Amino acid sequence: MPATSMDQLVSLCKRRGFIFQSADIYGGLQGVYDFGPLGVELKNNLKAAWWRAMVYERDDIEGLDAAILTHRKVLQYSGHEATFTDPLTDCKKCKNRFRADHIKDGKCPECGSTDLTEPRQFNLMFKTTVGPVEGGDNFAYLRPETAQAIFTQFKNVIDATARKAPFGIAQIGKSFRNEITPRNFIFRVREFEQMELEFFVKPGTDMEWLESWKENRLNWWVEQGLNRDKINVHKIAPADLAHYSKATYDLEYEFPHGLEELEGIADRTDYDLGNHTRYQKDLNISAHVHDNKDSSAKLALFDDETKKWYVPFVVEPSAGVERGVLAVLTEAYTEEPLPNGETRTVLKLKKHLAPVKVAVIPLKRNNPEIMKMAHEIKATLLKTGIGRVMLEDSGNIGKAYRRHDEIGTPVCVTIDFDSIEKQPASVTIRNRDTMAQERVNVADLPAYLKSFFLEK
Ligand code: ATP
Repeated sequence: MPATSMDQLVSLCKRRGFIFQSADIYGGLQGVYDFGPLGVELKNNLKAAWWRAMVYERDDIEGLDAAILTHRKVLQYSGHEATFTDPLTDCKKCKNRFRADHIKDGKCPECGSTDLTEPRQFNLMFKTTVGPVEGGDNFAYLRPETAQAIFTQFKNVIDATARKAPFGIAQIGKSFRNEITPRNFIFRVREFEQMELEFFVKPGTDMEWLESWKENRLNWWVEQGLNRDKINVHKIAPADLAHYSKATYDLEYEFPHGLEELEGIADRTDYDLGNHTRYQKDLNISAHVHDNKDSSAKLALFDDETKKWYVPFVVEPSAGVERGVLAVLTEAYTEEPLPNGETRTVLKLKKHLAPVKVAVIPLKRNNPEIMKMAHEIKATLLKTGIGRVMLEDSGNIGKAYRRHDEIGTPVCVTIDFDSIEKQPASVTIRNRDTMAQERVNVADLPAYLKSFFLEK
């Protein structure tokens, strides 16, 4: 099958209600997207899978949900105010602006001119007024990453949970970056969600943890349906590292527009906790205080062996939800030739990610007995906890199957005349991937589907 194109995905996402351009009726707000009825389900399922793997399945990670509005000092001491910038260049001919590091052969990507301005640094953080008076210092930032609140709440979490390193704090939430050139659908946007873990470890063990988290995250993406061969593990060259990082791996995925970053796994050392500690203690000294013996250092842990306080190092796997959604959609999108010469579009999403798990389809929507059974089956299946079960009473079975193939519903349950006329009552089950149909007794349906959804 040829590779999935961005046009195919954009069209499916709009047609079926996964993703819409924000403020579409006003011509759209650039770099901002809204998730529609199916998109919100897919996104929630991806986030739930991450949360489960990070928080529920482990015994060394706690969760957090911190505010988006961020105190200026946090982002001053984290280094973002000074260094969270991209190089910006202007084309003097067509007047468009670009990220200088995205320009190839010194030519404007829009008009090809080589008459470009010298790059200058452009800060990507959004500011907003706090309180009724505008101007001056009455502003907060919209956080550019979720991580900083994990660092600033480090002490509160430790005090509340009595954790010792190694342990982590996980968070999923919105981040904002005023990207110079948002593009490639939801790949590079100005408002997005991140799934971030800050994993605190003893200095000296950080590089081992970096390797282990890289493997862990790689395997997780494969469990979400990504083909291992389409993921590239890229070790960032020292000169290209972010201001806080000692070593970083990027997991890159073959998106429709090319091989690009899906997740970064960085060794952030004690850079952030060190800097915030420096502010806390109001010390005008080096950021690196891991040999600090002073127990009043706020963002530190006590080492029971050495009886000293130390600032832990942190390993951070940080993934974008939108990029994750784009990757699983790219992988799942399939066009399959049918024996009758037609082509069916099917979204072969992993079952746990599918927006709708089961479509219950009454063959005749004007038959009260069939409708009654359909409602009862839907209610019973919902109670099994398998996820969203949808009553699909559009009245045309062929169209219903096509729609549910396209949105990735793993199972359709059809209620026909035999279902209400013959005993024991039974229904037809259709499998999305194989299109195989089988007859299952209504009484066996909950157990049958529960075990179907438990299989990976
Ligand atoms: P890029 O180099 O592509 O700009 P980055 O290296 O700045 O990304 P990080 O700061 O490492 O990104 O952020 C962690 C993750 O957050 C990224 O791997 C990506 O999945 C997601 N992310 C970052 N910026 C954006 C964006 N503008 N739109 C969507 N997702 C983003």
